[in-house]
Amino acid sequence: MSSALLPEFKDIWQKTLHWEPSHSQLEKWEKLYQEIISANRQINLTRLTDPKDFWEKHLWDSLAGIDTKILNLKAPLKIIDIGTGAGFPGIPVAMTCPNWQVTLLDSTQKKIKFINLILEELKLNNCQTLIGRSEAIGQMKDHRETYDLALIRAVGKPSVCAEYTLPFLKIGGIGVLYRGHWETEDELTLKSALKKLGGKITIIKKFETPLTKSIRNFVYVEKISKTPIQFPRPIGIPNQNPL
Ligand code: SAM
Repeated sequence: MSSALLPEFKDIWQKTLHWEPSHSQLEKWEKLYQEIISANRQINLTRLTDPKDFWEKHLWDSLAGIDTKILNLKAPLKIIDIGTGAGFPGIPVAMTCPNWQVTLLDSTQKKIKFINLILEELKLNNCQTLIGRSEAIGQMKDHRETYDLALIRAVGKPSVCAEYTLPFLKIGGIGVLYRGHWETEDELTLKSALKKLGGKITIIKKFETPLTKSIRNFVYVEKISKTPIQFPRPIGIPNQNPL
């Protein structure tokens, strides 16, 4: 176990997201942090081990993408986090919104194995995990067009993320693409991909992270019509040949 504690930064939560975590949420985040730091010695889960880095890039960033005013969806929500890695952004979102159902999807078995331990340890009953590629799972009846909200961070180019995300969403559902810098070219390629996938950009929200002032862009896309059945294309194709 690490001896360093996560900062609380209640004032920063209030100032940036107009919200602050409860005492029990802070305790759960601390436990999550300690578990990740401890497991990181055996499997590579994150390079962000410093408490402030972890707070900013994993906790704050995960929650900053969930702007309920923009989402404008009727709770409780059914969510999928695509390429969740060590559980971001999905786990902090599940911890903060206990009545939302969160599916954590990743293609790496050892990461999902670790997440399963964490879920048990933290008694996070509103999460389930899935091992597999989003290209395959997005074609499965049990998952296709069944989610209100899909989150995707650090998984690929914007149009690749769109091809992974849109098939999971119900019509009217929202995808949140967590991005760093955002260029005009990114917007053009994303728009062109969304046309084929049945979506549109609703808003792009730009933030500076509160501690290191890094640029973040949260790109909200809405599913406006059914995604044609040929999407997502077979495993590997979206990445090799982005829309
Ligand atoms: N979202 C996490 C975060 O931001 O900390 C993890 C990001 S990590 C760079 C990318 C993750 O996406 C990896 O764990 C990888 O296994 C997973 N991944 C990449 N392509 C995927 C796919 N097509 N389907 C499912 N998982 C995928």
